[in-house]
Amino acid sequence: MNNIGLIGLAVMGQNLALNIARKGYSLSGYNRSRQKTDEFINEKVKDEKIYPYYDIKSFVESLEKPRKIILMVKAGKPVDDVIQELLPYLDKGDLIIDGGNSYFKDTNRRIEELNAKGIYYLGMGVSGGEYGALHGPSLMPGGTKEAYDMVNELLLKIAAQTESGPCCTYVGNYSAGHFVKMVHNGIEYAIMQSISEVYDVMRKVLKLSSEEIGNIFEEWNKGELNSYLMEISYKIMKHKDEKTGRPLVELILDEAEQKGTGKWTAETSLDLGIPTPSLNLAVVGRALSFFKEERTKISKRVQRNYPTGNLNRDEIIEDLKNSLLFAVFASFSQGLWLISEASKVYNYNIDLSEVLRIWKGGCIIRARILDFLREILSDDKTNINLLNSQKSISYLAEKLESIKKVTKLAKDFYIPTLTINSSLDYFFSMSEANLPANLIQGQRDFFGAHTYRRIDMEGIFHTEWEQD
Ligand code: NAP
Repeated sequence: MNNIGLIGLAVMGQNLALNIARKGYSLSGYNRSRQKTDEFINEKVKDEKIYPYYDIKSFVESLEKPRKIILMVKAGKPVDDVIQELLPYLDKGDLIIDGGNSYFKDTNRRIEELNAKGIYYLGMGVSGGEYGALHGPSLMPGGTKEAYDMVNELLLKIAAQTESGPCCTYVGNYSAGHFVKMVHNGIEYAIMQSISEVYDVMRKVLKLSSEEIGNIFEEWNKGELNSYLMEISYKIMKHKDEKTGRPLVELILDEAEQKGTGKWTAETSLDLGIPTPSLNLAVVGRALSFFKEERTKISKRVQRNYPTGNLNRDEIIEDLKNSLLFAVFASFSQGLWLISEASKVYNYNIDLSEVLRIWKGGCIIRARILDFLREILSDDKTNINLLNSQKSISYLAEKLESIKKVTKLAKDFYIPTLTINSSLDYFFSMSEANLPANLIQGQRDFFGAHTYRRIDMEGIFHTEWEQD
């Protein structure tokens, strides 16, 4: 009898299976198409106790009870299909863990349906790509605590290990794990977009080569900006194309694809009424990039008047660094606010500091700044918005002049900086007591009799703005 089962032997499933087996567990593997299973067993598995199964029944029967089965299949209908295939063979008390990027509302539905049948279900975010899956990912499991306790030991062992402990915790009730993973991806989109915007200013304003930008990014990665995304960015900037000898990044088509988690984050933020402009604009940035043909045509119609005069290269590089730090802070801050609101609305009961802790290793958004964010949270555990702290404001204030200069410089050079810009506007909006929404309320009342409230007296008011 094997300790655990895993269905879905694509890149993530294979590596997670190897990781689990290397921690001393025996594992039954199953994949819909036989070929992938055979390739995996023949080419990747060595001494690990990983055993292939070619039909669901014998796969299930090979597992010790209560059975624990991890799904690493494509998100969406495939997850439901696999659950339906499994159900006839499962017993009450068995556990299914969905490790894919499932939409959190689907996870809620599945938890409800399976719990009604006496089957436990966890929705678990897995971050770290194929490398993380093999060497230690960040794991974000959510569902009932009872279900989590069945695999607590195993998950802690396979997760990335940091000085703050393993990058896995019981995230919370229902779909808490998949919700947190979704927002993790939203933040990931925003940081990727911000780094790309900085790159754009460096190449178009400062006329730096890819190699030079790579060197700057490498230097930044040694300090405050240290993060996985900074690290891969400098490696990408310095990578030479084998065929041409040119920097490969310059040969890659500028159309950014997406699989949906960033869009879900943006949609959810709008549904819950929590402003996450840096995250949302990062999704918009990818959408804009996709219209290469139109962009190329329109670009030929636009007359550009570039500023003349000398630029202080070193000063601009320092300003760009500060702007990136500002945007990264704003992106995490917005994402955490969204998680905090969801935790209230959906009764997830999420500990935000724990979320930051499990993002410290293994995952794509691991970054040095996470320790600082945890410190801010620890000052006031009831604080749901990181901006609402003197430490945060001082941190951002130090970078404010830089980001103001960078957004202006970018505009002078016709360079879009969607995420950096929206991070600054987010800060301006959240730190502004008086917004012009009074005029919007007046307009709404004017055309739709939607009423308004006043600052000088209690009550709901409507005005006949024009007398016929
Ligand atoms: P993937 O391309 O998302 O999915 C491929 C796997 O799903 C294959 O094993 C495939 O089986 C199986 N599958 C698809 N439709 C199925 C169906 N109807 N019934 C049964 N199996 C079906 O693979 P992946 O990149 O390894 O990702 C797995 C999950 O992890 C996904 O939810 C993904 O979003 C998530 N994830 C991926 C990453 C990453 O870096 N790739 C990172 C974090 C999370 P066949 O071989 O038979 O087609």
